Amino acid sequence: MDDHRDDKYEDTELEKSDGSVTEEKKSDDSGSDYEDVCFICRRPESKTGKMFRLPNHICVCDDCMHKTMDTVSQFDYQGLLNNPNMGDLNGKGFPNISFVNLADLKGDGGIPNKQKPKKKKKKAAEIDIRDIMPPHKIKQKLDEYVVGQEHAKKVMSVAVYNHYKRVATGTMDEIEIEKSNMLMIGPTGCGKTYLVKTLAKLLDVPLAIADATSLTEAGYIGDDIESVVSKLLAAAENDVERAEQGIIFIDEIDKIAKKKNTNSRDVSGESVQQGMLKLLEGAEVEVPVGANSKNAMVPLATVNTRNILFICGGAFPDLDEIIKQRLNKKTSIGYNAELKDKYDKEKNILSRVTVEDIRKFGMIPEFIGRLPVIFTLEGLSRDMMVQILKEPRNAILKQYQKLLELDEVELLFNEGALEAIADKAMEKETGARALRAIIEEFMLDIMYEVPKDDNIGRVTITREYIEGNGGPIIDIRSRSAEHPDRLNVIQDPADGS
Ligand code: ADP
Repeated sequence: MDDHRDDKYEDTELEKSDGSVTEEKKSDDSGSDYEDVCFICRRPESKTGKMFRLPNHICVCDDCMHKTMDTVSQFDYQGLLNNPNMGDLNGKGFPNISFVNLADLKGDGGIPNKQKPKKKKKKAAEIDIRDIMPPHKIKQKLDEYVVGQEHAKKVMSVAVYNHYKRVATGTMDEIEIEKSNMLMIGPTGCGKTYLVKTLAKLLDVPLAIADATSLTEAGYIGDDIESVVSKLLAAAENDVERAEQGIIFIDEIDKIAKKKNTNSRDVSGESVQQGMLKLLEGAEVEVPVGANSKNAMVPLATVNTRNILFICGGAFPDLDEIIKQRLNKKTSIGYNAELKDKYDKEKNILSRVTVEDIRKFGMIPEFIGRLPVIFTLEGLSRDMMVQILKEPRNAILKQYQKLLELDEVELLFNEGALEAIADKAMEKETGARALRAIIEEFMLDIMYEVPKDDNIGRVTITREYIEGNGGPIIDIRSRSAEHPDRLNVIQDPADGS
């Protein structure tokens, strides 16, 4: 490397000694044919464009001049980072090639750690109140995707509307609108995550989904609480302002309930709740950009959580018992003691939940206080399951129908088949989550066999097929005699149905 430098140096000496450069310059001035050549890269002026002319008739092209300037401006930084090597670097003199290479190693994306990406100065993408979708429209949209859960959809639509109204008005008003963070309670697979995902999509805001079970107090194994903000920033493609208006959904929030009768330090329960308080209310958090842990080489960004909508969800098992106990206690006072088990059989007991019940479950009051919108979702009934199969915009059946349509095969499901699928899903007790698994299981054979045979025009899934007592009805197609290119679906006579 040094040789290279010396070569250049020698070149200049040569040029100087034989006086040709002077000649060149002179001749150039006097309209000679010789061009100036860059002192560093040796390219002629016709290639490099206009050159900088330095004393002693040295010409440097624009590119080389910029590279040199860049090198000079980075020199200080390198010296700081590689303090022990500083002597070396200095010893090699300037320009120092190895030093330039070190900087190159950082690559294009490498941002030196000490340069935090500054929050963009431009004003946040302001939300115009008139642009916010009114609650009834939000609900209408949710209806297209989410079956049932009427109450939840209504509450969410209003809360989201209010939230973004609050974001739009900022703090200028005297009456500050409270944050509409939500707590949704409902059994697994009833659509909590799905509702939030749909909501974020239709509002076109970034969404981060985190699992409360993976969160621990900072400094312990697991993701620290602020990592959820980091996820949101990633979902917003590192656009801090977009992230600041996004939604964070924390699932399985019931798993960070206060542990009862424990002597060990509760790093994943109560202390996580404590740690989340600030985030829920609004705090400036420094989060790593493009990674989920802070370390020396990752740049940090400051995100304010003031306008981030937090939605927490959980199944809260046994919360119904707490509710029943409370209700029964009330009725067992006085002469009504005989009604003690009055609520035992009530189906939608969860909807009677109060803040006190949730506190009893193990959530700390400060935490519940920061989730003012509390609502419950119902467990899915068989009818709802059937609806989920066929009605939403991207219903599973529609997806399969679309896939087979590409093979020009029509896929039909008997009502009995849908009920049988719903029954099977109900048994699994994982809500609608079981539906896909069940359908996938028996659609596998069909998806495998159908493309084999061009004659198949229609497949009808029956209850018998789902229950394992028969096969699907296959209709073959025939070419119509009058219209040989048109395919007609006809009933397979062998099937007899
Ligand atoms: P959880 O309540 O446990 O968060 P999810 O929202 O993840 O459940 O539901 C799992 C899947 O079941 C969703 O991806 C969605 O396809 C389907 N699903 C659940 N509930 C509904 C519903 N009410 N309407 C439509 N699809 C639903």
